[in-house]
Amino acid sequence: MPKCSKCNKKAVYIKKYAGTALCDEHFIEDFEKRVFRTIRKNKMIKRGEKIAVAVSGGKDSLSLLYFLNKYRRRFGIEIFAVAVDEGIKGYRDLTLKKVIKFCEEYEINYRIVSFWEKYKFTIDKIDKKHACDYCGVFRRRVLNEVAVEINADKIATGHNLDDEVQVILLNFIRADINRFIRLRERKKVYTERIKPFYEIPEKEVAIYALLNNIDVCLEECPYVHGSFRYEIRKFINNLEEKSPGIKFSILRSYEKLLSLIEKKEEKEIKKCRKCGMPTSRDICKACELLSKV
Ligand code: SF4
Repeated sequence: MPKCSKCNKKAVYIKKYAGTALCDEHFIEDFEKRVFRTIRKNKMIKRGEKIAVAVSGGKDSLSLLYFLNKYRRRFGIEIFAVAVDEGIKGYRDLTLKKVIKFCEEYEINYRIVSFWEKYKFTIDKIDKKHACDYCGVFRRRVLNEVAVEINADKIATGHNLDDEVQVILLNFIRADINRFIRLRERKKVYTERIKPFYEIPEKEVAIYALLNNIDVCLEECPYVHGSFRYEIRKFINNLEEKSPGIKFSILRSYEKLLSLIEKKEEKEIKKCRKCGMPTSRDICKACELLSKV
């Protein structure tokens, strides 16, 4: 490893897309500075707000919880961790243990809500091919419901740059323009979602967790390999390897495109005829899937 570009210490990370190397201290300083910038630029947090932080026990969500807890006085916010148990044996039970341990260690209030307790099904009972579709739809639903119950002003999720870029490409490939637009549109209908790490590459979130000794679960969900998104992830990582910075470039293209689309389109928001939750359709996706379980 070369020396840090800011001091004489040994670097722990080479930021290829920026042409710099950083030691442990400067890595953390640079990481946090960029997250603060993202929060400020997007006006994500206001003083006095209660933030529900969605946690899974993985590196992204626990790092976000760590960051928000570290600076909660500076932001003037209250935080509350929410974990969802989708019913994935041998995986979710392990990650939830990490959530409980973290919250107890840092004295953070938390709640764990399960699909079984709410909807009487588990992801293990769903056809493998559709596990991620069900999981995503109902996890969003649970988080929205809990956010309303605890009176949260915002829901913070640990989505990083890689997650964001994967979803952009996925929606683009599927020609799903409604979802493409909705990625940033939810604040108009649900409890507003914020993603303070959306401009931070996944690898850097992992290093942040490591340098801060955050005890995260390293297991991968058994269903991840079956998803199309996994293929997209491999494809983007290959591109990034050959051309550093391409993830940022995809994100910026999306943002430019979105600002053009938003000027032209104001989508009509309806209420689901079955459950009353906001949706752009007559029956929301969650109710449609529930009828098939
Ligand atoms: Fe849910 Fe799919 Fe993620 Fe597993 S990989 S946690 S099933 S969305």
